[in-house]
Amino acid sequence: MAAYTLNPQDRQRLQDLQTEIARRTENFLGYPVSKDFDYSALLPFLSYPLNNLGDPFADSTWKVATREFEREVVTFFAELLRAPANNWWGYVTNGGTEGNLYGLYLARELLPKGMVYYSQETHYSVAKNLHFLGMRSIMIRSQKSGEIDYDDLRETMRIHRDCPPIIFANIGTTMTEGRDDISAIRAIISDLALQQSYIHADCALSGMICPFIEPRPPFDFADGADSMSISGHKFLGSPIPCGVALAKKSNVDRIARGIAYIGSLDTTITGSRNGFTPLVLWQRIRELGLDGMRARVEHALATAVYACERLRALGVDAWRNPGCITVVLPSVPDAIKEKYQLATANGITHLICLPNVSTAQIDAFITDWQSAQQAAAQPAA
Ligand SMILES: *Cc1c(COP(=O)(O)O)cnc(C)c1O
Repeated sequence: MAAYTLNPQDRQRLQDLQTEIARRTENFLGYPVSKDFDYSALLPFLSYPLNNLGDPFADSTWKVATREFEREVVTFFAELLRAPANNWWGYVTNGGTEGNLYGLYLARELLPKGMVYYSQETHYSVAKNLHFLGMRSIMIRSQKSGEIDYDDLRETMRIHRDCPPIIFANIGTTMTEGRDDISAIRAIISDLALQQSYIHADCALSGMICPFIEPRPPFDFADGADSMSISGHKFLGSPIPCGVALAKKSNVDRIARGIAYIGSLDTTITGSRNGFTPLVLWQRIRELGLDGMRARVEHALATAVYACERLRALGVDAWRNPGCITVVLPSVPDAIKEKYQLATANGITHLICLPNVSTAQIDAFITDWQSAQQAAAQPAA
């Protein structure tokens, strides 16, 4: 067969795109993804049709896979998030959304008559997932911090006490990084004497932060979660979206049995699965180790404190939740929003101090903000 290659014009288009992507990557401060990574050691693996199809813990006749590395990655997260020893299962997903879908699916199979409760500040993908799954749900008020309103949750669960509650908890909301307290939710369930319940924790960004701060927020399996989802491309950083879904194995087995008659362990949401991203996460875990991860969290928190202080010194009403790297801003000059790719929702904007953000970058941001303030103060010519 002829060897096909791109023509020079097409190559040039890719070259131009790369230049543009590099420029756009430099400035952004408004999205929760790290960019301090170098995965060039993994480039040779792009030459193979990697596919981890099926269950990472089951054998498959397809061997062009990275399942062994995927199992190591999932094991690392199971320990980090204090999953019950010998009673957990999980896999590398295409991102936080898939892990959330998986957790809700599991909850629905276990509690078909369940009612899902989730707060106002929950990620937009969750309402869509609930619709896919045909689950009944009720939205609960959020506090200003982004954390769920426990009084509203208690009262609503009490009214619907004939339905087993399925709580979709946020461990770091998208806009303010508000974290629901899993222990407090467990206490309400127990106080209402509800016999059956399920808690899924959406830890997209904060799942990589909470294990490394003191006091450790009540957010994981040991605190009462039944399943968790975390994004790999957010705090850790990855060129391709990815994440990890984790659940209690005893629950997974109950639903896996139901489909065992098709002769396969079709436990994951998709059939074909990415075999490259488990290598990305594996490299990151190996090169950083727990100490490296803790250092990145400490650096990010210090940057957030610094950013908040500098903005407040300018008279900007910036704030952040304790132990969080998201700095919440009121109205932001358009030029700043544009330059730093800041997301805005419900009248608030945020900047997220990921580990790659330096105080020098914050200084540049402050200088731009001052210029924008001065420009706004000038009477129009
Ligand atoms: C980003 C985010 C998600 C979605 O995760 P993806 O990895 O982008 O699919 C879900 N929940 C929260 C709170 C998020 O911030």
